[in-house]
Amino acid sequence: MFFPKKLKFYGLRDIDSIPQLQRLSDEQKFEIKVVAHILPFRVNNYVIEELIDWNNIPDDPMFQLTFMQKEMLTEDQFSTMADAFKHGYSKEKIQRIIDNIRSELNPHPAGQMTLNVPRINDEPIPGVQHKYKETILIFPSSGQTCHSYCTFCFRWAQFVGTNDLKFATDESKRFQDYIKNQKDVTDVLLTGGDPMIMSARNLASYIEPLLEPEFEHIQNIRIGTKSISYWPYKYLTDKDADETLELFEKVGNAGKHLAIMAHFNHWKELSTEAVHEAIRRIKNTGTQIRTQSPLIKHINDDPDVWAKMWKDQVKLGCIPYYFFIERNTGAEEYFEVPLYRAYEIYKEAYEKVSGLSRTVRGPSMSALPGKVAIDGITEINSEKVFVLSLLQARNPEWVKKPFFARFDENATWLSELRPAFGEDKFFYQDELNRLLAEGDGQMFFSNADEMLINESLNADD
Ligand SMILES: *Cc1c(COP(=O)(O)O)cnc(C)c1O
Ligand code: SF4
Repeated sequence: MFFPKKLKFYGLRDIDSIPQLQRLSDEQKFEIKVVAHILPFRVNNYVIEELIDWNNIPDDPMFQLTFMQKEMLTEDQFSTMADAFKHGYSKEKIQRIIDNIRSELNPHPAGQMTLNVPRINDEPIPGVQHKYKETILIFPSSGQTCHSYCTFCFRWAQFVGTNDLKFATDESKRFQDYIKNQKDVTDVLLTGGDPMIMSARNLASYIEPLLEPEFEHIQNIRIGTKSISYWPYKYLTDKDADETLELFEKVGNAGKHLAIMAHFNHWKELSTEAVHEAIRRIKNTGTQIRTQSPLIKHINDDPDVWAKMWKDQVKLGCIPYYFFIERNTGAEEYFEVPLYRAYEIYKEAYEKVSGLSRTVRGPSMSALPGKVAIDGITEINSEKVFVLSLLQARNPEWVKKPFFARFDENATWLSELRPAFGEDKFFYQDELNRLLAEGDGQMFFSNADEMLINESLNADD
């Protein structure tokens, strides 16, 4: 049984009024507040009441996922901020310290937010990213927040109100003209933040036009969301729950596939009656739920957690899809796992599940050339190497071609890897450089129509 719930958000100012938090020491609460001045903090009543195990604080993965920890800042950053409060600095002075630390953590230094943004008549189209041939990403302007905030999230800069860092569609919906003319594109992926924070009506204004004849080439509409985990009532008892489900049904009735790309980090998120019922209702509309998660230290860096999560997902009728390696999380060092360990965790979890869960691809890094997977660790000519390949690539011809990097126990990202066998670059490097150099104007794919893509990086690089 689940009972209707009314959404209640808790932010920085409400930390003292969260009843469950009162079992923490004053010191612990102070630490949360200090860090929550830097990283965006938001949690809701469902997460507090049903997902967090308050008898296992601070180690509980759902607590780590939503509540700040002292170690998410460097010692320096933390003590600067803590001292500012202890000494009762002026608001302005505290704000300057906040801005400083944020700029140290900022995953989107100037310019990056406009990367991969296509253009029409040389005008960038806000809220669109087009990196891979078949799929366009849309960031709806009213979907750039979430039902709770994940402590590791690389999109945090979007939530802290620094306006120039926001990246979202404008009112004109010019992106629709762009999609209309991109006949190679089959998939439109609404992302955020969380698009499911939008009202059903607002969401319909993004989805319904795509069901019209001029968008015939769009076969799949995807929605990237953590709402099933953080707020299943969106599909149960919210005012627009039924309207939302009817909208989902419309997509199937128009002959297209609606795919929910659901973000779950831990099996705990799949354990409530509310989430079971939400999944059941969504699936009843003909919508398919695929799941994805990054690997995050303190939350899911354990093969048993992944194996159980995938099994539970399959049992509930969801399809495991991506296992990501995360970067640019802001609190990077706190959450990062070395690449070799990411591979071990993925492999050990994969060993424990049946083929129905082995649809999950990874461990994958969304990097400059594309999505790079670690396929293995082996020895070739007595050199220990990572076996890599691209799952998605700027040039589709790069996909599935094995390549090799020197083994490195400490590496946590592609940029730290060096080619194996004494080679000086990876196979795609020259062409990538060429594509990026052309990037300010136009980008061409060797076997695709011309695509207008600006610059080089993806928001999740
Ligand atoms: C991951 C990703 C996609 C979708 O890739 P699929 O493998 O088709 O799921 C599209 N665009 C960007 C920028 C991505 O990072
Ligand atoms: S990971 Fe997703 S749900 Fe979590 S804060 Fe970031 S955008 Fe929101």
